[in-house]
Amino acid sequence: MYDVIIIGAGVSGSAVARELSRYKVRACVLEKNEDVCTGTSKANSGIVHAGYDAAEGSLMAKLNVRGNERMEQLSKDLDFPFKREGSLVICLHEEDREKLEKLYERGMKNQVPGLRILEREEVLAMEPNVSDNVAAALFAPTAGIVCPFGLNIALAENANANGVEFYFDTEVKEISPIEGGYEIRTNDRIYQTRYVVNAAGVYADTFHNMVSEHKIHITPRRGDYCLLDKSAGNHVGRTIFALPNEKYGKGVLVTPTTHGNLLVGPTAVDIEDREGVNTTREGLDNLMEKAGLNVKNLPMRQVITSFAGLRAHEDHHEFIIEELADAPQFIDCAGIESPGLSSCPAIGEMVAEILREKMKLQPNPDFVGTRKGILNPETLTKEERVQLIKEQPAYGNIVCRCEMITEGEIIDAIRRPLGAKSLDGVKRRTRAGMGRCQSGFCSPRTMEILARELSENIEDITKSGGNSKIVVGVNKDSF
Ligand SMILES: Cc1cc2nc3c(=O)[nH]c(=O)nc-3n(C[C@H](O)[C@H](O)[C@H](O)COP(=O)(O)OP(=O)(O)OC[C@H]3O[C@@H](n4cnc5c(N)ncnc54)[C@H](O)[C@@H]3O)c2cc1C
Repeated sequence: MYDVIIIGAGVSGSAVARELSRYKVRACVLEKNEDVCTGTSKANSGIVHAGYDAAEGSLMAKLNVRGNERMEQLSKDLDFPFKREGSLVICLHEEDREKLEKLYERGMKNQVPGLRILEREEVLAMEPNVSDNVAAALFAPTAGIVCPFGLNIALAENANANGVEFYFDTEVKEISPIEGGYEIRTNDRIYQTRYVVNAAGVYADTFHNMVSEHKIHITPRRGDYCLLDKSAGNHVGRTIFALPNEKYGKGVLVTPTTHGNLLVGPTAVDIEDREGVNTTREGLDNLMEKAGLNVKNLPMRQVITSFAGLRAHEDHHEFIIEELADAPQFIDCAGIESPGLSSCPAIGEMVAEILREKMKLQPNPDFVGTRKGILNPETLTKEERVQLIKEQPAYGNIVCRCEMITEGEIIDAIRRPLGAKSLDGVKRRTRAGMGRCQSGFCSPRTMEILARELSENIEDITKSGGNSKIVVGVNKDSF
């Protein structure tokens, strides 16, 4: 019997796992997909919000500000990309100034540090590509950008290094109370646990409603994005938001990413399909129209890919993080829509604290709070790089020409704890395939490396686990 079973290996589940690993506890994470970071945590804006958006006094506001505060140190401890570049909310019309001021006031009440309203000239001096129509802007110096894959993978790896087990391709089907805890039926086997943490993203209502009479309802709210090439990465220097709208929140933003691309999005469309992460023509058209309102001359010909993510929008637009009153030992981590990424360090802390108190957990004397990411040879001096290639020639073999990723980095991504098993797994860990050609050149080479390292046939290598096979047969030259 486990002490704690966490459902879902997104940023919420992984942050909980990492914080929980500070204590002596037998815990595991069950994830229906083949890897960590395969749900909403892989498809979002990657913004670490300052914290002025969420309603005053809400859990969202509290955890956003706390998560933002913790992110910098966490990025150093766990070695993932984070930059505190600040953000601007653009007000285009004098008559909307009141809305900007309300946002400022809410931010002050939420205790967001350093907020200022800037006048037109100051905004244009800071961001020359902001619309000429700008009237004023809310500047939040503590906002930042994070690599969502880097954050999610780092949390999970560190949790695993500190003793939390991860089971992939393990889909939770049913949860029922048993003496002293819960029984969890999966596609694979039956688990028993004293406590359950429900961090299942857009599916969190399904599990909540299995054990509680007080039903909740999550709507998948799709957001479409366009990602632009690095040649467009300096178009703005910080995240540029539109003034939020009552119904669908923060609107379309334009932001640099931690790896130097430019991201434009998201839209907000309520859908029924909880796996519906396809982009639509309508959504992308809508995006193009809105993005140009706040930032001028957007080089949209530089789009290299588009993608969509699903917000887990709970009807009351609030994080639900608590032990359920009518289902003791079942802890929800539900309704984690934006700012869930920003808040995850605080979500992890909060859930671990609930569990520590309930279970009287004792500190894990072997806990190691740091972790080293995959070595990026570009961070080395020329001499260090020469030495590295001498010792490990795989670092001299460039596999992804767009992002300049070496075979050495790909091997590291596969061999490390909770290592990559698919093309997307390698991509999220190393960026091989994330560049301008979107893996057109490197995927066959990466597949060969995966097959060799995992001792599998190349026919069995997948894009993202399951049935997503890439080689579907042999051509006539093979005979
Ligand atoms: C368009 C968009 C933009 C966003 N932008 C931002 C932003 O800029 N900043 C910010 O702070 N937040 C942002 N967010 C929100 C943020 O991405 C989410 O709050 C966060 O990623 C949620 O993480 P999670 O771990 O709760 O959910 P997920 O990442 O979805 O993880 C849940 C996991 O549970 C697994 N699971 C589900 N069902 C089962 C089952 N039956 N058995 C086993 N496993 C299961 C899933 O496979 C998944 O891996 C955005 C979200 C969207 C959609």
